[in-house]
Amino acid sequence: MPRTLITGGAGFLGSHLCDRFIEEGHSVICMDNLITGDTENIEHLFELGQDRFRFVEYDVTDYLHVNGELDYVLHFASPAAPDDYLQYPIQTLKVGALGTHKALGLAKAKDARLLIASTSEVYGDPQVHPQSEDYWGNVNPVGKRGVYDEAKRFGEALTMAYHRYHGVETRIARIFNTYGPRMRIDDGRALPNFMSQALRGDPLTVYGDGSQTRAFCYVDDLVEGLYRLLMSDATDPVNIGNPDEITIKEFAEEIIEVTDSDSDITYEPLPSDDPQVRQPDISRAREELGWTPEVDRREGLRRTLEYFRAEVEATTAPARD
Ligand code: NAD
Ligand code: UDP
Repeated sequence: MPRTLITGGAGFLGSHLCDRFIEEGHSVICMDNLITGDTENIEHLFELGQDRFRFVEYDVTDYLHVNGELDYVLHFASPAAPDDYLQYPIQTLKVGALGTHKALGLAKAKDARLLIASTSEVYGDPQVHPQSEDYWGNVNPVGKRGVYDEAKRFGEALTMAYHRYHGVETRIARIFNTYGPRMRIDDGRALPNFMSQALRGDPLTVYGDGSQTRAFCYVDDLVEGLYRLLMSDATDPVNIGNPDEITIKEFAEEIIEVTDSDSDITYEPLPSDDPQVRQPDISRAREELGWTPEVDRREGLRRTLEYFRAEVEATTAPARD
């Protein structure tokens, strides 16, 4: 049975990866310090027993030790929502830099293959559209978002250095905006804000004039792309995301429609360095992984709605005596 370590495994994407690797017959070790994650996302796996699934509460910026052999390391630990990394700027820099270093050192020691979760944020506020992997980006290193963007850029550079110098088998996924069940309802990202606001009948808070664009990928599609990338021979970075681009204003309107809500839209100031456009060029993923997303946004939003409805009800239910 292959043995796989998933850092950040109690978070949104990490917990879906835990599910997928369990399904694929791996023994999974999930390591997380719970800074933005929650054991609720993985507790359904506890019943499998320690041979199949083990949770270790640990900060991966510290020395990493795992007993026994390891075949794969997936490094997903990092605050990922803008509000989270603005709240934890130093932890974000540390986990992207020191945490990636520890994960690479472990992969080297165990002769394991490592995949890091990089991001479309390495392109910053892009001057090339859509973004393909050979674009080097437009990042403000001293802006507030720089703590995340630069940590991820350093993580990519370190990963390539371990690959070239130590011969470690590495994969780099540049993940674009992804959504689905298990996002934290209060993580401040557009979808959790809009969906919970719509379900409560509150106004949807669009930042700026809403003309900025994003392209949203449903989590199941993303996990399939990540799995294929890990099992492929692609050592250069690969964009994984859904190219279906939409303005944030249209996205807010679509969520009002899907939730059948009476909410209005209000406009608030645009955060600094907020990328004006973003859309993945996924030609490389198509060619090298044979991967393309399959869940369209309406369908993905419907699947996500059920989860958010339950979360909103749980947070607004009257307290029982
Ligand atoms: P998340 O916040 O839900 O999950 C991150 C997890 O990492 C959390 O469980 C958190 O507790 C854990 N963590 C953070 N620092 C840690 C540390 N020092 N030691 C151990 N655990 C730590 O975020 P997510 O959306 O699931 O993102 C997961 C990864 O994917 C991140 O690396 C993020 O940068 C990347 N990513 C996500 C998206 C997206 O749209 N969700 C887009 C691009 C990249
Ligand atoms: N956004 C918004 N209202 C919100 C939350 C976010 O208009 O309540 C905007 C945000 O400014 C950005 C886009 O939606 O332009 C996507 O934001 P998110 O935090 O989801 O991810 P990002 O792509 O910025 O990392």
